[in-house]
Amino acid sequence: MNYRNITVAGSGVLGSQIAYQTAFKGFQVTVYDINDEALERAKERIMQLKPHYQADLGATQEEVDSAYNRMSFNSDLSQAVADADLVIEAIPEVVQIKTDFYANLGKAAPEKTVFATNSSTLLPSQFAEATGRPEKFLALHFANEIWKNNTAEIMKHPGTDMNVFQDVIEFAKAIGMVALPLHKEQPGYILNSLLVPLLDAAQRLLVKEVADVETIDKTWMVATGAPMGPFAILDVVGINTAYHIGRAKAEATGDEEFKKIADLLKTEYIDKGKLGRATGEGFYKY
Ligand code: NAD
Repeated sequence: MNYRNITVAGSGVLGSQIAYQTAFKGFQVTVYDINDEALERAKERIMQLKPHYQADLGATQEEVDSAYNRMSFNSDLSQAVADADLVIEAIPEVVQIKTDFYANLGKAAPEKTVFATNSSTLLPSQFAEATGRPEKFLALHFANEIWKNNTAEIMKHPGTDMNVFQDVIEFAKAIGMVALPLHKEQPGYILNSLLVPLLDAAQRLLVKEVADVETIDKTWMVATGAPMGPFAILDVVGINTAYHIGRAKAEATGDEEFKKIADLLKTEYIDKGKLGRATGEGFYKY
């Protein structure tokens, strides 16, 4: 892996974090977004990350400042990727927006540039053709609060070159991530393939009135040694997100239990302002 120049496209919640973490680990980073206003917002967002690096990682003022100084900001796609070894895409989770972006990027970027998508729910094979370089394209998926939740799921699509896959695994390690390779495409990657069925099962037990929240969590924790049970995890995810997922599943499948789950989350939690950890109360009080 001889990547030096990294471009992060999309400088929202995750893009800002990916860009700053990459600069913090010594890479030259160009941040690209659709216009200068978006880039100004990104600069503010990134400045707000500095105290977290100091508090959570013990970084010095000099370290957090020099990371920022390795970053540049550009709203011209051709200029932003002119010497990029790797472009990490973190633009909205909308198929058409990503497809258009990859078509433009494929034309603008030099031949050497590898493209990686941070998409949470879309598969890289959906965009492989649009990139014009399917062999140099794959998924590199981070978690929110990347500096402490430092997982990187690296997922091939069938056409990804093995050397590119290996290089991106090395890159993920070089920016301080625990690299988690996926050799085949998998919706939800590894984490959500495990977590979603657990959270669904817990909520089904609750609406079927098999057991209460505390008992369900306690069972999981004591039996497996896990530090949190499914309802404590749902409080971290946020009840709003859980509700939207439950409602979408109810609509897609007609499953009565998912409908009950969505109704319960709405009436007993969301309507009462209990949105999870973020508001100090969800299934538990914090
Ligand atoms: P966000 O809405 O916070 O940010 C999106 C950014 O993309 C904005 O700055 C927007 O101006 C910019 N943008 C829009 N169109 C663009 C274009 N054509 N070219 C360049 N930039 C464009 O979104 P986010 O939460 O950071 O999510 C971005 C991606 O990261 C999604 O694919 C999402 O699935 C993934 N992701 C998000 C999280 C999360 O917790 N938020 C976690 C992991 C992965």
